[in-house]
Parts: sequence; structure tokens; C-alpha cells
Amino acid sequence: MTGRLLLLPPTARDAELSCAILAEAGLSPFICQTLEELCSEIGTGAAAVLLADAALKEGDPERLAAALAHQPPWSDVPVILLTPLGPDSITALWAMQTLGNITVLDQPVRVMTLVSALRTALKARQRQYELRDRLDALRQSDRQKDEFLATLSHELRNPLAPIRNALHVLRLAGNDEQTRARVLDTMERQVGNVIRLVDDLLELSRINQGRIELRKERIKLQTVLRSALESSGPQVEDAGHELIVSEPRETILLHADPVRLVQVVANLLNNAAKYTDRGGRIEVSARGEGEDAVISVKDTGIGIPRDMLSRIFDMFVQVDPSGDRARQGLGIGLTLVKRIVELHGGHVEAHSAGTGQGSEFIIRLPAFADQRVKREEMPLDAALGERRKVDAARLRILVVDDHHDAGDSLATVLRLLGHVVRVAYDGPSGLVAARAFQPDVALLDIGMPGMDGIELGQRLRHEVGLERMLMFALTGFGRDEDRHRSREAGFDAHLVKPVDLASLSQLIAEQARGAAGTPTASGHTAS
Ligand code: ADP
Repeated sequence: MTGRLLLLPPTARDAELSCAILAEAGLSPFICQTLEELCSEIGTGAAAVLLADAALKEGDPERLAAALAHQPPWSDVPVILLTPLGPDSITALWAMQTLGNITVLDQPVRVMTLVSALRTALKARQRQYELRDRLDALRQSDRQKDEFLATLSHELRNPLAPIRNALHVLRLAGNDEQTRARVLDTMERQVGNVIRLVDDLLELSRINQGRIELRKERIKLQTVLRSALESSGPQVEDAGHELIVSEPRETILLHADPVRLVQVVANLLNNAAKYTDRGGRIEVSARGEGEDAVISVKDTGIGIPRDMLSRIFDMFVQVDPSGDRARQGLGIGLTLVKRIVELHGGHVEAHSAGTGQGSEFIIRLPAFADQRVKREEMPLDAALGERRKVDAARLRILVVDDHHDAGDSLATVLRLLGHVVRVAYDGPSGLVAARAFQPDVALLDIGMPGMDGIELGQRLRHEVGLERMLMFALTGFGRDEDRHRSREAGFDAHLVKPVDLASLSQLIAEQARGAAGTPTASGHTAS
């Protein structure tokens, strides 16, 4: 219907003539016999309408006005009216006042004028169709977002319920050390789930905006595989699956972001464990094939219908969104997998013979060109190694956060780690506290009413005696522009909440050691 030109000529002979002329210009109109027929055809679909003044007068022009008024918001069908009397004709005047998208042409009209007016009308209509398609796509993505929000709230509720229960238990447990330890384990695991979820979302939004920076280094394919197995092993074990691992015999090097690549393989492993009934088999293999490094994760699980094989990599797509297993996810894991693999110059494919037939995911990545590396030159794989444990020094730390619980709990932990801590709950009192307390380190929340963390940071930087104090931004926003803002304001680091304490301690110790030997602003040495 998208190129459909409706024609209502005054007589049958005019119809023949017009058809011949328009055919020569490559236009083939649909001929209507009456104005009524034209109106009903407009309802079926019209790219443009060409009609004669006389034909309009013979019918009920108001019906045409009603048919045109009945269009969806994106649509404004162009109408060309041929009138022998010029625009002073009563019908032409009525048409110009009543019908929206009207062009009036005097008769006799030159063929070229008519054809060019029609082509312009059809082109304008094409643009409307494009807008319609974009609107449809937006509506569809809006629907998907709604579904996503519903799933997201469900996903957040999952870990929050056991955390809340654990808190009740802690209150009631008194000094029963065993119960406390068990409950703390649960809390830690569940908080980890929430953090992973939020991290995935942030990562996806960063990738979607093209704002991701890969931290590439030379890394062994074997190490990627082992680290992914370390992180996903518990899921595979819990589900009672048999795990078969096949590593390459030779060392294969990649030039890749180790953390992200491990995340990719772990994601595939978690899915294999999740979408396979208890006691299944999962085979993971890594090998070299020509210039490529290939990783495959194969399971004996529920399989994937053929028509879904490529779609499952799209955002929020799940084969069976109402199924129990899918409910434990958001349908973004595979989107992340695909984007990260593509950012590395590789690609990922899903294979399955169909429902109930198991699935296999195969990743192909370009291997590092120069594989002849001596043993002593082997990559450090530092990002995957155990985090160095750093003993935090006894520092004076100022925490400023308008969220009392967040500030107080962080202060408690820092005190338990041996630091001397003071807390303030807004910008101005943070400033006063800093002057009096002369901290070595300030941890400032950024989003605070009134004087926010950025302004407080800028002021603290200009305070006499505090120039060398370490200053970290604590915020819920981990976007690159947020990091840029805090760096501009003079912060030494930007930490996204909830802060991982091991990283914080390490950062404090490292930064403090940077200034080691030289006393910090308050006269305390940092090591
Ligand atoms: P989620 O698992 O959170 O739903 P993913 O993006 O990881 O999201 O996966 C998208 C969909 O692909 C899943 O909902 C599931 O239907 C299907 N899928 C992924 N991995 C497998 C697998 N190993 N076996 C069968 N289906 C899978």
C-alpha cells in the first residue's frame, strides 16, 4: 500500500487518458469510480490522492473531509486537486480550507507539472511512512522497557528478601556465633547478586553509548577459561552437572580485556548450568583454530528453538519469559556477551538442534599475532590474580554522606579496620569537620542537597593545611562523565557505591604509600 496513488477523474475517458500519461512517468494509479469509493479506499491505504474538481462536486465532499480526518497522528495523505477554474473555484477554496495537505493545480495542467507534483507528494508520504516505522519501533522498545522494569523489580526483590530475613535473624540470634556466620554469608552472597545485576546494567548502558574502554593486555586463553570456571564452578556444582573441561595443549595468547572476557565465559557457563535440568553435562573447551582462539560451552539442556537462535542475543529477549529459569534473569547476559566479544573483534554464535536438544555457544576471537613468547615473558594476568592484601594504615578519615546509614556503616567498618573516623552528614558540616579534624583521607558522597560533594571537594582543596589530603568521591553514578567531573574537582579517585572494602583499603594504602615517608597534611605518616 505504500506507493498506492488513488485517482478520481471526472469521466471514464479522463481516467484512460490520465492512466496513459502517468504510466509513461512510471506511476500506476488505482482508479476510483466515485467519491464514496475513493473515501473507502483511503481507509484501506493511500500514498497520495489525485482528483478532479468536477468529481468532487458530484459526490459529498464532507465525506472526503471525514475520511482524511480519520488518519492516525503520523499520517497526512497528500491530496492534489485539479480545477479548471483556478483556485477561485468554490470547491477549490473549500478544499484548501478543509483538507489538510492539499495542492490545487489549474487545468489544463502541463504533464510535467502534474508528474512533478505527484512525485513530490509520494516522496513526502514516504517520509511519513518512515516516521510511522520509527514510532512503531519506539513503541515496541517502550513495551520491552516496561517488561524489563517489571522483571528488574522482581530480580531486585529476590536478593532483598533473604537480606531482610537475615537482618531479623541477626537481631534475634544474640551471641550464637554459628547462626551469625551463616546469616552473614547469605547476606554477602545476596548483596553480591544485587551488585552484579547493577554492574551488568551499567556496563550495558556504557556499551550502548559506545563509552566502554577495554583494558587490553596479553593474556593466556587458558587463564580466561580457568578464571571463568572458578567464578561459575559453584553454580555448575550446585546443579549437580558433570563438567568436562578441555584446555588447549599449547599456550594461546590473546590481546584482550581479561576481566570482561572472563565475564563473558562465566556468563555462558552460568546459562548452561541454569538452562540444563539437574544432573546434565556441560562441556567447556578452548582451542586454537588457524588464527583464531575458540571457546565453546556446550550443554545437554533445554535447547533453543531454531527461530530464536539469533534473537536471543538481542536485549531483553528470553525464549520463555514466563518460565521459572528465565525469571531468574533479565535477558541481558547474552547481549553483553555478544557486544563484548564484538568489541574484541570476534563473534559469538548459538547452536541448537531445537527444544530439548541441548545448546552450544561458540566464541571466536583473533589470537595474539606473535605467539612465540618465552616463558619468562608470559603475561602476568594481573587482573585475574588474587587481590593483593594490603594492611591498611591507621589513618584519620573523614566520611561525609547525607545518607546517615551509609555514612555510619562505612565509618564503623573503617574503625574496625583500625582507622580514626569522623562522620558529617552534609557539605557545610563536612567543611567544618575537615578544618578541625585535619583528616588524611576524605570520602565524600557526591549527591548531597545544598553543597554537594563536588563543591565540598573544591573548597577542601583550597583549605590551608588540606592540600595534600587524599580525597575520594563516593557516588552511585559510575558513568564516565561523573568520573570526569570528580577528577576536574580535584578528587584522587572515584568510587562507585556500594564500595568494595578490599578495593577501598587497597586504594587508601596505595595512595598513602605514594606519599610515604613524607608526612601527610596533618602530620601523620601514611605507612
Ligand atoms: P537470561 O538468562 O537472564 O534470561 P540471557 O541474555 O543470558 O538472559 O539469555 C537470553 C535467553 O536465551 C534466556 O532467557 C534463555 O531463553 C536463552 N538461553 C541462554 N542460554 C541458554 C542455554 N544454554 N540453553 C538454553 N537456552 C538458553
